[in-house]
Amino acid sequence: MIRTISLLLIYAALALTGWAADGKPARAKNVILLLADAGGIPTLNAASLHGYNAPQKLFVQSWEHVGLSDTSPAGKWVTDSAAGMTAIVTGRKTWNGVISQGPDGVRGKKDGTVLKTILEIAEEKGLSTGVMSNVSIADATPAACYGHANDRRNWGEIFLQIFTPLFGDGVDVVFGMGRKRIYEEVKKVGKDLDEVARQKGRPVFSSLSEVPAGAVRGLVVMDEPIALPDAAKKAIQMLSKNEKGYFLMIESDAHTDNPAAGLDRLVAFDKLIKELAGMVGDDTLLLFTADHSFDLRLDGGGPDQPILQDWEAFRKAREPGVRKTRLAALQIDGKHTGEEVLVAAKGPGAERVRGFMPNTRIFEIMQQAWGWK
Ligand SMILES: [Zn+2]
Repeated sequence: MIRTISLLLIYAALALTGWAADGKPARAKNVILLLADAGGIPTLNAASLHGYNAPQKLFVQSWEHVGLSDTSPAGKWVTDSAAGMTAIVTGRKTWNGVISQGPDGVRGKKDGTVLKTILEIAEEKGLSTGVMSNVSIADATPAACYGHANDRRNWGEIFLQIFTPLFGDGVDVVFGMGRKRIYEEVKKVGKDLDEVARQKGRPVFSSLSEVPAGAVRGLVVMDEPIALPDAAKKAIQMLSKNEKGYFLMIESDAHTDNPAAGLDRLVAFDKLIKELAGMVGDDTLLLFTADHSFDLRLDGGGPDQPILQDWEAFRKAREPGVRKTRLAALQIDGKHTGEEVLVAAKGPGAERVRGFMPNTRIFEIMQQAWGWK
């Protein structure tokens, strides 16, 4: 009896530390990839100061398992979202502007080898899958999960690939924005999106509330801003009906060309992540990272001087077309930068996130969490 109890205690302790009873790391059933687009370390630091008037107050900054990811694409030091996300979801570096195709292609001219994405592998294994974003769902970050193209600008070609999946039955849940332009871009490649959707039996709804109750798949592409918390909760509800598990990528834009908008969004995204962490079970790996950093630099400010206190006045006085921001506490040139970004993880498989790593390792960490590699 005592022996049984002590064994149970050992198992409970192992479960808490993320190790299964057989001595191997616990496996994840679900993986949620949380992508702050352009949310580099300087932006995380500024978001904490902006949101909480103190450093390191973001929820993701409390996670125990952290690493630093290089984001360089093929042939350059600084990446765009297309190559950055391709590396994260396929484990291969490619040229800037290219969506989940290999560097044997040429942007805008020649297709490269199709690189199978983590979403497609999950589809092939019978899991449910989803992508969502508070910017266009045909833009590079979500596109690199479900599509393949030699140029990120080919929104029509990219979005239509949702209806012609290469693996499994295709991405199940797609929630995002960019409706008007996606319809136009699909028209440019000679198709009518509603007609394609009708033929494939996958209507493209214009609001979350149109998704039928009990549905396990659904496409929502909106014009007005999407409420990411509502979308994320709905997606998890839909995807978690699959007992094999799910993969979900949630993108929140963290570009700080407009620092108030960018930092507000990042603080809100972090709050959402905290909410989701309390919602999902301990069978879910949460991975937070950025596709690249941004050139926000904090060089002043203090507890009595909010970092954005002079932003509105600066914005009103700025000449149209000028991108640079110079406030008392920070400076932004408005470009992507090449330094490492944070990778933070929580849940089964999180212990593999440590030290400096290439962005391609995030792909391996997700596969290993599921026990596929
Ligand atoms: Zn990006």
